[in-house]
Amino acid sequence: MTKKPFTPPCGTGCAAAQMELFPAPAVAPAEPPADFDWDAHDRVVVGDSGGKDSGVTAHEVCTQADKAGQLHKVRILHCDLGRTAKGHLVEWPGALEVARAHAEQYGVPFAVRRSQRWPSLWDRIRAHGNWPGHFARFCTSDTKTTVGRDYIDEIGAELRLGRPPRVGYAMGMRAEESTARAKKPVVERHRMSGKGTLRVVTTWLPIHQLTTEQVWKIHRDNGIAHHEAYDQGMRRLSCRACPLAHTDDLVRSAQLNPELFAEYAEAEADMGRQFKESISLRAIIERARS
Ligand code: SF4
Repeated sequence: MTKKPFTPPCGTGCAAAQMELFPAPAVAPAEPPADFDWDAHDRVVVGDSGGKDSGVTAHEVCTQADKAGQLHKVRILHCDLGRTAKGHLVEWPGALEVARAHAEQYGVPFAVRRSQRWPSLWDRIRAHGNWPGHFARFCTSDTKTTVGRDYIDEIGAELRLGRPPRVGYAMGMRAEESTARAKKPVVERHRMSGKGTLRVVTTWLPIHQLTTEQVWKIHRDNGIAHHEAYDQGMRRLSCRACPLAHTDDLVRSAQLNPELFAEYAEAEADMGRQFKESISLRAIIERARS
């Protein structure tokens, strides 16, 4: 972990939900940030992966909360994705500590939670017998969204309001990242609300309008912690091996994480399923060595 100022070499970025995804729109929309109704919510949870967009999301939420006298409502949640069978962290080592540093910087409670069903994303993938993909996002739904929902229920039990808790869920998705993300509303009711009898959850994307350059500027201006993988050439801080990541990032990650990629390549051969539609892990590793 480091706090060194850093300007990334390109204009692409990653978000808390961590996806490479679709061609990015040429220009990020310049819509003004939608107002978030603090009075209408009992708590606001920031999903923090330890990535750069998470850091700026924590900054925006906590800064707005402080101005509104509502900082006591904010919680920062890191979803721990666990380890592989050989004991390698699925995430980048140190990502959790960066997320914790974000919470410490703004003086808000920090929580780490893991899926109650799956010991790790690795176990989930092996049980599924295939890799996650654009149309099979069981990774985020089972190890992030469900974990966030359970944490919100935990908060609701603590609050004992005698009614469903009303919780904001802030994430670092940005319009610049993809056409699909550009279309997302900044504030909307989350589907985990269901009929609203257990919980009412509002999704909030407080940095939706920011460009990658602006994200890094906010980091520099406010001394927000970022992960050292960015300084080593990574453009995204997702799972160390994500089938949805750009191949160039995977090649760089394979150079930085050879043992993890070797284990993933063994799983690729064992499951008989190519890691990424366009390229196998074996080929990624070969490119990393060349
Ligand atoms: S594999 Fe990891 S980084 Fe990739 S989409 Fe799934 S949870 Fe996100």
